[in-house]
Amino acid sequence: MEKELLTQSGLKLYLTCSKKWDYRQEQSLVPLEEAPALRFGSSYHDILELRNTGHDLKECIFSLEETYADREMDESGKMISEFCCLVGMTVAYFNRYPLEDEEFTFEKVESKIKAPLINPDTQRASRSFDFSGKCDGVVKDKETGKLSLYELKTSSQIDRAYILKVASFDVQCAIYTHHLNLDSVIYDVVKKPTIKRKKSVKVYDEIQEFKKDGEPKKNKTKILKEERPESEEEYIKRIASWYEIDTDDKLCRLSLVVTEQDKLRAMRTLWSVSQKILHDRRDSFFIQNAGSCEKWGRFCEYYDICTSHESEIIKQNQFKTREINSELTDKKPVF
Ligand code: SF4
Repeated sequence: MEKELLTQSGLKLYLTCSKKWDYRQEQSLVPLEEAPALRFGSSYHDILELRNTGHDLKECIFSLEETYADREMDESGKMISEFCCLVGMTVAYFNRYPLEDEEFTFEKVESKIKAPLINPDTQRASRSFDFSGKCDGVVKDKETGKLSLYELKTSSQIDRAYILKVASFDVQCAIYTHHLNLDSVIYDVVKKPTIKRKKSVKVYDEIQEFKKDGEPKKNKTKILKEERPESEEEYIKRIASWYEIDTDDKLCRLSLVVTEQDKLRAMRTLWSVSQKILHDRRDSFFIQNAGSCEKWGRFCEYYDICTSHESEIIKQNQFKTREINSELTDKKPVF
């Protein structure tokens, strides 16, 4: 019998809240509308995948245009904002890291990893699970030939606490480096734009007035022509300027070493979670972790079901069933 796949995102999900794992993985429930944060992150990964396989900026922007072709249909304007932010982030990345100046080449991009899930204490393989994941890439240093894992992250905040968290607790990278036999990671962290699209900008007509002698007056008279939302072009331009200020704090590249100890701890975490999932299944009980219900002002997508004693009406009206581990399917960006 084929084993079930425990993926990196499944692991993260279970560690966030085992009840959330239950909804997503056991019951295969996903919200009818994809969470904007997930869509945003995955669109940016898709675009940088194109860049890392040799496509230029124009081609990347074209792909975004295609992906967000219906953005104007969204009356809330969120899709337009998202599109502009993605374009701004892509332009900033290309400016910061011109491909020809990179110190490394990409050996693999969006590469799948599948391996038996091993108990690190006994070296026995799980009878229930295999591990599977997809890494953003493997890069080769042009000078030394050393291979490193490449990971891309987008974050609303890049500060000391964020960097320490990445350096100390990134189970995902430790698992990937273990399976790929690597001991270092190049991390690209890109801060998401924190400036919002302006709901209203004033557009003026400039009228040139003349003196009696026919010479133009120095100052033109401005007359309000219209008040409208900021255009895509204006917003993208503002985002590009935003990235030009304190660029180092918004586009960071970290080079980290992954020790054998880090890898062992990550493999133990993975094994332990696999056993907890089996245990929860046997008990038909998944613990609700109320501490994870709200993060950065956003509520968990299962909040309504969770707080309504699993109302069938909410399940039917707000959710659909999805393919398990759909993040591992080959969903290529439009290009
Ligand atoms: S609402 Fe809270 S308890 Fe329920 S699944 Fe989400 S994080 Fe877990």
